[in-house]
Amino acid sequence: MQEIYLDANATTPVLPLAREAALAVMAEEFGNPSSIHSTGLRARALIDRARATARRVLGAPGGQLLFVSGATEGIQTAVLSALSALRGRGDVRWLLYGATEHKAVPEALRHWNRVLGLDLQVRAIPVGRDGRHDLAWLRQHAPQAGLVCTMAANNETGVISDLDGIAAALAGSPALWMVDGVQALGKLPLALERRGIDYAPFSGHKLYAPKGVGLLYVREGAPFTPLMAGGGQEGALRSGTENMAGIAALGAVLEALEAGEVFRDAATLAGYRAELLAALQHAFPGLVLNAPAEICLPTTLNFSVPGLSSRLLLDLFDAAGLRVSGGSACSAAQAAPSFVLEAMGLPAWQTASALRLSFGPAAEPAFIAEACRRLRDCAAALRGNCLTPSTDAGGGRPLDGITRYSVAGACCYVLADAASRQAVVIDPLPELTEPLVRLLSCQGYTLSALLDTHSHGDHASSAAELRAALPVDVLAPGEVDALGWPLGLERLVLGARSLQRLAVPGHTLDSTAYLLTEADGRVSLAFVGDCVMPGALGRSDFEQSAPLAYAQSLRTLAAVVGEQALLLPGHDYDNRLACSLATERAAQPLLAQVLGGDLPAETFAARKAELERGLGPTAYQTMACGARVDAAACESLRAELDAPALRELLANRPDLRLVDVREPYEQELGPLAAQFPAHCVESVALSALLNRLASWRDEVGAGPLVFVCRSGNRSGQVARALRRLGHEQAWSLAGGLALWRPQQERSAA
Ligand code: PLP
Repeated sequence: MQEIYLDANATTPVLPLAREAALAVMAEEFGNPSSIHSTGLRARALIDRARATARRVLGAPGGQLLFVSGATEGIQTAVLSALSALRGRGDVRWLLYGATEHKAVPEALRHWNRVLGLDLQVRAIPVGRDGRHDLAWLRQHAPQAGLVCTMAANNETGVISDLDGIAAALAGSPALWMVDGVQALGKLPLALERRGIDYAPFSGHKLYAPKGVGLLYVREGAPFTPLMAGGGQEGALRSGTENMAGIAALGAVLEALEAGEVFRDAATLAGYRAELLAALQHAFPGLVLNAPAEICLPTTLNFSVPGLSSRLLLDLFDAAGLRVSGGSACSAAQAAPSFVLEAMGLPAWQTASALRLSFGPAAEPAFIAEACRRLRDCAAALRGNCLTPSTDAGGGRPLDGITRYSVAGACCYVLADAASRQAVVIDPLPELTEPLVRLLSCQGYTLSALLDTHSHGDHASSAAELRAALPVDVLAPGEVDALGWPLGLERLVLGARSLQRLAVPGHTLDSTAYLLTEADGRVSLAFVGDCVMPGALGRSDFEQSAPLAYAQSLRTLAAVVGEQALLLPGHDYDNRLACSLATERAAQPLLAQVLGGDLPAETFAARKAELERGLGPTAYQTMACGARVDAAACESLRAELDAPALRELLANRPDLRLVDVREPYEQELGPLAAQFPAHCVESVALSALLNRLASWRDEVGAGPLVFVCRSGNRSGQVARALRRLGHEQAWSLAGGLALWRPQQERSAA
């Protein structure tokens, strides 16, 4: 599937005309521009020509225009130059930067402020809800500012700064002014000289030139201190032999920009953006734009969709061959909110679930049309899986067995029986209310019960909220107790299986485990809340805790479920998915002591409290966090195969099984079978994986299992979980499908 690259604000491909220019310089015109023979003179002429073009494009007829390695170097040089000139200036207090500036700017300000020993105060200029600088604030602080840094356009949102307004606010101020022009290059007329900008850095790779080349404009008369001293290149302002291939490529791009044939004008680009936005709005009803389109670059869309995380959308788009960027960085368990959107004062859900879609100004109409077509495919896949509102009921494969949801380390489970369309929700989470209501109604389920494993110490259950949001025909009628268990019922029957309660007081007095009994009477697994988590026991220092009852609860649990039954926790901070008493005996010495002997309840409670005190207030989170506590154990679980190793296994092990752990909507958009035609591929989405985990563990000698996902992250979780449970041949394809090349697989197999 051909890639549709919609992440141009991160970087762009190198245009063919730029590639040709770079190749010509590397192969034929390879001279050193400092040489005075003819080969050198031709190289010098090439630089001069590229610089002259850049001057015209940037509106910078005077001043210095230096070739540098990129914007980060340009920013350092500008900041060093400005700050060097501020030494000994008693009238200056502030170094100011826009709150949404690229990190390179505030970091450079702090760095050079420290290195030069200036001790000025580095402060962020607030931005409004629209992402634009607060000009009144700037006007007020400008008289005592030494340097003011305001980007021309923002990389995350595309918001275009009001440069003329900023220039007016700075009128009469002694401050030097840097404008980061990276995202504006080729998209906005900058008129650097007319606006009185002192410094402006640019990066070639954001406009179809290669990485490693950029520009820095320095106004005539603005202070300058070289960052690089040496052979005196660039008029001794930036030493080091010039990156001729990069300069040739950037020069070629800028010439094309001037000629106007390859690049589209602003109106055409705005038309493309409107087409993409229409496709997005059709795909995701309720989509919210995170910045007003009328003041944004016509090539950037930053949006959030209520109820859909940026991780889900990234996975979905990637499966459809659409490369976009999360507006926020995602860590394993939690999405780190975007500081840019936070600075704009957007609500938390928007800052945490933002997505950015950006294209370059040389985009072709056919490219935009294909992007829109794939967005429509994404929409259909989501509707078909009941993830977005749909008028047609019964969408997607019906839920069956256990579905696991995880939000910031907290887990919620749906236990369903597809045949009878009965389901139970265990430990609902507020973020899941809307998706669960949609899913259950859309697939025609009746909710037999809505259970909590305990009254949570640190947050309220969202059961009441979910109960209220469910249509009357979805929730089974009848009275329930405080944890949602139907009054007077011993067993909750779901097809051939049933749920039973087991009191496990400790974490809280009302802590309850729900045991799943199979048709043959065996307890196959237990939803244990915070009684036992992978790597930790629950806290027992809440008001409603019962620390003295904890030890006996663990023994009771062991007696009823045994050592091998899967325990599904209420919290799973580092995605270990499930554990068993056998795994936790090995990982948690205190638990081993309780189960191994008759440790008195008081001693257990005292040791547990001591352990938690040593770990600080977030004890149970820290204890469950493999990165800190269990690094050595995690290391021994390295279960990754790289592509050559997988190719070898595929060639030599006919009993190898490949498991696609991507979600159904991703599997629909980019089926794995197409990439591994000769081999048996099983599809078990991560959310449904708990249904197979124990059986894979118990299939001793059944051959290697290789898990595959988009990036290797989810498949890595599964392979490690299975290894913790004792399966020695569980593997994950390192780097996931992103690094897998099917042709190589075919030729080797
Ligand atoms: N400024 C802005 C607005 C950017 O978007 C970027 C790159 O993302 C930079 C500066 C840094 O550019 P480079 O990494 O090419 O030096």
